[in-house]
Amino acid sequence: MAMNRPLKKPIPLRTDAAKSTSLRATVRDQSGAGKTKIGEILSKEGQINHNQLKHAVDYQQKHGGMLSHILLRLRYIEEDTILNLLSRSYNYPPIRSQQLNPEKDVLQLLSYETAKANMAFPVSLKEETLRVAMVEPTDTALVESLQAAVKRNLSIGVCTEKEILEAFKTHYKISDEEYKQYFDLAKDDEDEEAVKVVEDFGSLVSEAEGEIEMQSVREDVEEKEAFLANDAPIIKLVNGILVKAITDGISDIHIEPFEHSLQVRYRLDGALFRSMNLPITIKSAITSRVKILSGLDIAERRLPQDGRIKMNIGKKKNVDIRVSILPTLFGESIVMRILDRSQLNVDLTRLGFELDTFKSIQRCISRPYGLLLVTGPTGSGKTTTLYSILNALNTEDTKILTVEDPVEFNFRGINQVLVREKIGLTFAAALRSFLRQDPDVIMIGEIRDLETAEIAIKAAMTGHLVFATVHTNDAPSTISRLVDIGIPSYMLASSVTMVLSQRLIRRLCPKCKVEVDNKDAEELEALGFSKDEIPDLKIYRPKGCAACNGAGYKGRVGLYELMEVTDDVEKAINANLPEDQLRKISIREGMLTLRDVGLNKIREGVTSVEEVARNTAITKESLPDYLVNPNIEEYQDREVIIREGNTDKDFFMLVKGALYVVKGGKIISQIVQPGEYFGEMSAVTGDPRSATIISNKRSTVKRYPGDKIPDIIENHPNVAKHLFEVMANRLNHADRQIYRLLTEKGRSE
Ligand SMILES: [Zn+2]
Repeated sequence: MAMNRPLKKPIPLRTDAAKSTSLRATVRDQSGAGKTKIGEILSKEGQINHNQLKHAVDYQQKHGGMLSHILLRLRYIEEDTILNLLSRSYNYPPIRSQQLNPEKDVLQLLSYETAKANMAFPVSLKEETLRVAMVEPTDTALVESLQAAVKRNLSIGVCTEKEILEAFKTHYKISDEEYKQYFDLAKDDEDEEAVKVVEDFGSLVSEAEGEIEMQSVREDVEEKEAFLANDAPIIKLVNGILVKAITDGISDIHIEPFEHSLQVRYRLDGALFRSMNLPITIKSAITSRVKILSGLDIAERRLPQDGRIKMNIGKKKNVDIRVSILPTLFGESIVMRILDRSQLNVDLTRLGFELDTFKSIQRCISRPYGLLLVTGPTGSGKTTTLYSILNALNTEDTKILTVEDPVEFNFRGINQVLVREKIGLTFAAALRSFLRQDPDVIMIGEIRDLETAEIAIKAAMTGHLVFATVHTNDAPSTISRLVDIGIPSYMLASSVTMVLSQRLIRRLCPKCKVEVDNKDAEELEALGFSKDEIPDLKIYRPKGCAACNGAGYKGRVGLYELMEVTDDVEKAINANLPEDQLRKISIREGMLTLRDVGLNKIREGVTSVEEVARNTAITKESLPDYLVNPNIEEYQDREVIIREGNTDKDFFMLVKGALYVVKGGKIISQIVQPGEYFGEMSAVTGDPRSATIISNKRSTVKRYPGDKIPDIIENHPNVAKHLFEVMANRLNHADRQIYRLLTEKGRSE
């Protein structure tokens, strides 16, 4: 007893002469009340509600097991709820895992079988008092059986189930199978049935209905329904309805009683549709079952109630269901809103992402760290996107900090900081403090300067998910913008996981939009449509009606360009490739440009040509590989690059050094300007080489395939223009030379 904090008074052996009153009370308790005592304590302390207790006790009566274990498994309490409660308010000393390390002889006092049966573990022996850790020390029957087994005075502390199981594993060396069995128990639980998708609702409904008719002879209605609600067919049916909704991506389930039927409707993408009609006879059983699941009062039928169901589907997927019950004329109407965070929130799904873009976003935000950038002009909906993402990530176990200017919307559970430059609370200053606040997710209103960018990248590289906006026009240019403000490209490559660029464009009013009958094929082609699709393309224009106040447009839709930093994109960023090439690689990796997405919206009849043309730019024609990455060749002094009379057709560009142009054995000119093309004449005319090109000392040139000249002229006007300028200059030069030679010759004659 000479401990730092008072231990629970040791319970003397039953055979001791001195029988204390507490001992007698313990020993005589044969009623089994101890089995539910922890439940009563938890209920009294407000840790669980009455219905949860009832549900757990019912379950215990049916399947056995310790109440704490059942409550934990039903997720009504947390792993350490009992430990905290009993140690803080009931004077049971807490025993933590590091104390579960008994001497060998102490361990031998308690066999594994006894330990398992009582969920207890020996800690230490002091004189004749054995200190024991128990999961449920309030169960007097367990304490008694433990005492009978060890024949010692007991000093009992409280420990979590998890820690005791770990101790079993470490000290009793139980097999993995044995260990898993503690968790396997949970798998037989009814909640696991929820995972199953119901194949045949019809037979399940009949089964449930039959069950009700059989039971309806019972007189006590209250009891009957509580019982029925726990009956297998009803459980299966309700679980089936929930699972079907979740797997189908439904946002709301409506279960509505009418005079002769119970209607189930699902809301998908904002529209309700009827899923099934259930017999009205099972109305009360279904309602009761939903109430039990959501911890509501089964007996209360006259007042509205709100509750929540937590469901586990598969291993990791947690789904929250918000339940609202409203008494209506024909009974209680149930509406369940599915808050499926793994599927993201309704909000994100309603922003109008292309399916692939949406999947990429999900991939990026489900990573534990990285820098995710959202970009676009003011009013392009960047904040809405970020908020939707944060909202999707906003769970109890995630700490989210934001620094914003201004704070546009308040979130519950998110710590939002308002930038106040006047008092020195800048983005960077707030961010520095953030890192000491142990966040999981950080959102930065805007990256404007190097300092903010640096801290954001540092945070992303040290295990945080960091979101920020940058003021740029498209995804690839965001990278160059950050390089411009001073971030090394290799740091961007290893921290940025996605860049989302966006625009908001107006939606055509569906009530009055009209199909355009005289399409301007040239305009459509210039916009980016392919020649082949234009004849069959249906495009619409705004007209104006009462519904849209004459605007012809109603509501807006987002266009999103998502650059996911895949391995190849990362390499491109790391290599500091020009924007054009980065864009090209991103497109190859699946990025749809803003313009591409805009064209899709026109094809879908969602918006007009004008809206897309005004809000998106056609991305610069990306150069083909042979132009971006031509062969680079090194030549030594006097080495021949092109030989007069040959019929090869490649053309070249001088990168470094100088070249001689030799004709008939005489040097007729030199090429010294880096960037100057040569040898292109033969590629254009098909004639043999008209001169020999020799390296003057060492030189570096790029070789381009000559058979691509027609392709370049047709598709890459900028490159073709440069080529022709070089040719024209050379022709001019030659022309002047010839003129000079002729005039000199004429004079000499
Ligand atoms: Zn209209």
